Amino acid sequence: MGDSEAPGNPAVPDGNPAVPGGQDAKPAGFVGCDETIERLYFYLDGELTEERRAEISRHLDLCGPCVGAYGFESELRKVIASRCKDHVPEELITRVADALNEEHSRQAN
Ligand SMILES: [Zn+2]
Repeated sequence: MGDSEAPGNPAVPDGNPAVPGGQDAKPAGFVGCDETIERLYFYLDGELTEERRAEISRHLDLCGPCVGAYGFESELRKVIASRCKDHVPEELITRVADALNEEHSRQAN
């Protein structure tokens, strides 16, 4: 996790609409795809509590696209870790996030 380069609010992911809408009716405790992908970064870094991990694991059990994303990000993390040590380019993260969002859009339609 590098320092935020964006001058805006760091709590708000860039380009993320406030409420996607149109996707309720999830099982109780089911974490949404967007949230899961955000948390994947922490998940992969081992920075989540066991409870959070359980939520993500449950999501991955039920959501094919996110399983693919997880596998993809796992591999990506290894590459990044071996090459960049402690600096992950913001551009790369953005590109990955875009790719994952695109993947989800395709699945949703
Ligand atoms: Zn998902």
